[in-house]
Amino acid sequence: MELIPLLDTLSKHPVYDTDSLKPLQFSACERRMWFHHRNVSQFKADTRLVLLDNSIRQIVIHALKATGRVIGPAKHEWIMRHDEGFTLLCIHPMRGDEYTRNFNRLDDAIEFDALHRLDTSSELSSRGNRLNHAIVIGVHRGSMAMFEANIWHDDDRLSMFRAMMQSAETAETIPDMVPDKYCNDCDYVDFCNRNAIPRATCRTCANVTNVGGQFECRYGSIVCDKHIYHPQFMALAGYDVVAADPDRMVIDYGDFCNAPEGVKVDGKATMTSRELAKACREDWMQDDRFLAVMGAFNARLEL
Ligand code: SF4
Ligand code: SF4
Repeated sequence: MELIPLLDTLSKHPVYDTDSLKPLQFSACERRMWFHHRNVSQFKADTRLVLLDNSIRQIVIHALKATGRVIGPAKHEWIMRHDEGFTLLCIHPMRGDEYTRNFNRLDDAIEFDALHRLDTSSELSSRGNRLNHAIVIGVHRGSMAMFEANIWHDDDRLSMFRAMMQSAETAETIPDMVPDKYCNDCDYVDFCNRNAIPRATCRTCANVTNVGGQFECRYGSIVCDKHIYHPQFMALAGYDVVAADPDRMVIDYGDFCNAPEGVKVDGKATMTSRELAKACREDWMQDDRFLAVMGAFNARLEL
């Protein structure tokens, strides 16, 4: 048997930075949202999964219609008409563990997504009417088992979710760690408590300023050779600042320095952010000989 080549060509592609978080990225842990907003981990969109999920949504709509329900599309939403009025349908294909968890209690992110879509549903109506009721349908991707849960528009809960998300988006400093039931499943667990250093991007750079959730830097908006790590990421990885030279943009962490391309501190291992990330990945940062050689020869790392 041979694989069908079409499936291989539908590969993953990077998800680019967005200025604000989406309701489905909500977490009770503000730190997790902060990491997400700072693009600490590069996510890849899986085209095959998107196609599969869209097909599952169509199957669910067909199945509901087959039971006599009246359902119609409205922009990117599905609306169900019944005797009491209209209901928004939110269909979420899920992995097995997500399905079990949400079957018992909906994740905050899924509830927030439904509330947000209800809140903005007036855009779907020519008269500006807002929907008040949504049905969330969870679908197990493997077995196609389904459950449904009712969500009613709730201003207080929506405001609470939005305030927490805005707080994470606008925080200049990293929020406290709030370990929760999602830690094992968290995309940022390595950066949160396993000493990993994130990729060098504009959102992990000490030169960037968070202005109301928007990132601004006088050197531009595309990662450049002036990148130096935001010291809080280094602190999470176990390295504390001992001195700084703002004129040369050098941050001294005791055993080594992080500096822009072309800047060296005599007698001390001085690395650009990309060199630093590589040295951490390769587990060289605890190797005194490595640091001594880097310092003695003003050495560069091959990337
Ligand atoms: S590992 Fe836990 S505490 Fe850390 S960011 Fe993720 S959810 Fe929050
Ligand atoms: S210094 Fe360069 S890498 Fe850092 S935020 Fe500015 S443009 Fe981005």
